[in-house]
Amino acid sequence: MIKSKESLMKQKVAYFSMEIALSNNIHTYSGGLGVLAGDTIKSSADLNIPLVGATLASKKGYFRQELTREGRQIEHQDPWNPSDFMQPLPAEVKVQIQGRDVHVKAWLYTIESQTGGVVHVYFLDTDVEGNSPEDREITSFLYGGDEGYRIKQEIVLGIGGVRMLEKLGLDVRKYHMNEGHSSFLALELLKKHEMNIDKVRNLCVFTTHTPVEAGHDKFSYGIIQEILGEVIPFDILKNLGGQDRLNMTLLALNLSNYVNGVAKRHGDFSREMFPGYEIHAITNGIHSCTWTCASFKKLYDKYLPGWAHEPDLLVRVETIPDEEIWQAHRESKKMLIDYVNKVTNIGMDYDTLTLGFARRATEYKRTNLLFSDLEKLKRVNSRGNVQVIFAGKAHPRDESGKKMIEQVFGYIEKLKNEVKIVYLTNYDMNLAAKLVSGVDVWLNTPLPPLEASGTSGMKAAHNGVINFSVLDGWWIEGWIENITGWAIGPHSDEHLSMTERHMRELDDFYNKLEYIIVPMFYKRKDEWIKMMKNSIGKIAYHFNSHRMMRRYVIEAYF
Ligand SMILES: *Cc1c(COP(=O)(O)O)cnc(C)c1O
Repeated sequence: MIKSKESLMKQKVAYFSMEIALSNNIHTYSGGLGVLAGDTIKSSADLNIPLVGATLASKKGYFRQELTREGRQIEHQDPWNPSDFMQPLPAEVKVQIQGRDVHVKAWLYTIESQTGGVVHVYFLDTDVEGNSPEDREITSFLYGGDEGYRIKQEIVLGIGGVRMLEKLGLDVRKYHMNEGHSSFLALELLKKHEMNIDKVRNLCVFTTHTPVEAGHDKFSYGIIQEILGEVIPFDILKNLGGQDRLNMTLLALNLSNYVNGVAKRHGDFSREMFPGYEIHAITNGIHSCTWTCASFKKLYDKYLPGWAHEPDLLVRVETIPDEEIWQAHRESKKMLIDYVNKVTNIGMDYDTLTLGFARRATEYKRTNLLFSDLEKLKRVNSRGNVQVIFAGKAHPRDESGKKMIEQVFGYIEKLKNEVKIVYLTNYDMNLAAKLVSGVDVWLNTPLPPLEASGTSGMKAAHNGVINFSVLDGWWIEGWIENITGWAIGPHSDEHLSMTERHMRELDDFYNKLEYIIVPMFYKRKDEWIKMMKNSIGKIAYHFNSHRMMRRYVIEAYF
């Protein structure tokens, strides 16, 4: 049967994500996964893609970070009030948890693009009448609690989400699972379609974000039996999700017709990790309009009108005069430095080469790589001053991540008379926006191949900030040495021992700073501005979520 365009548009893609970052005041995100989900939804609205979002209300947020003088992290609840931004819906569904009914309601958030596109996002909430006090907390804390709490959340998201969309009368053509947290939705679909696996596979799209085996959610069948119960016969479940434990990634892989990684290299890795599966790659992007600072927006509006809804236009950055690029950067840099000086009293200045590093503080991101050789760092600084701004939260149960922050504080103290370095608290979307537009160079030092994509460097590029990064994730595709930025260490295709790789990384890191980056910044501003323009014209024009969503539409949704 041939469907008219109208009926196709009535059918929705339902995008499921444990976290979605739509704005700084809606505390339902912890990091890159949530920001990607938010940018996906914003681009869908701009592009008129018939899509809806489903996530949890997480009314007590992820957490607000406080840091002691020694850099010890203290976590506070970070509540927000859905009724400030959203409309409560009367619809209610039930899910079964530990054999009892748990009531689920939803808040409706509406995104309206200037293009006329509209996307609805449903925030599922168990804090409703009829639930026990304990069940009311299921949707309180993003990534909080223990394994049992996580399973309950995933039941509400996956099973509750499917039931809610059905209750609301939505006609869903595809269910897109953003990471394995929502894989239970496929079990609900199996039940709904009389255990017809092919039919369910045709309905499901799965995006994996985790390049290591240990990173995938896995639950023992004992705890699944206790909390979820036998929603489909266990022998079938084990065939789909693993014999020993229920692997949520494997479950999604087996029940999706379209599966993708989030950068080319990550696609390759995922195929090695899961041999026999067809795994595609759609490289992540960011929502250009959200992540471009005011001064560059003004510049793009003047020279490249329409850029926000057609970021490919940024390829024509050469039409913007160098002085205006530099002036726009000075403006955003001043805003960042003023902020830093206000919250820390460190006395940074506008003319010093400023390096930025903000990431979730977790071991593989190697926040402390900069401090591997303090003598070399001092030498760089004597060649031409540098100042460095850090930020990032560690997950409350990530002890090594928290240690890493304390170590950075230790180094900052040690170097305090020589190099100006600060660690800002409570990295969130607002702080991210300031940092990625206000520094001169954006650092990225993950341990390959653990950064599936990474997106903050794409944000930096949109603001003419130059990337200096380990070759992992998206940077393998964005990097052209001395043109779009600089690489730290060897290409991930080179087979080297860990020690050799690390030595090459440190050599590149300090040598490129001392002999290439510092001299160019202070002595050859024209070359610097050329690279800023290349960041815009050769990176931002491509690494945006409009390009990404067009690919999802063509390859995965339709
Ligand atoms: C963009 C963003 C991230 C993701 O950055 P990566 O480079 O992928 O680590 C994380 N947290 C916040 C608040 C962001 O804005």
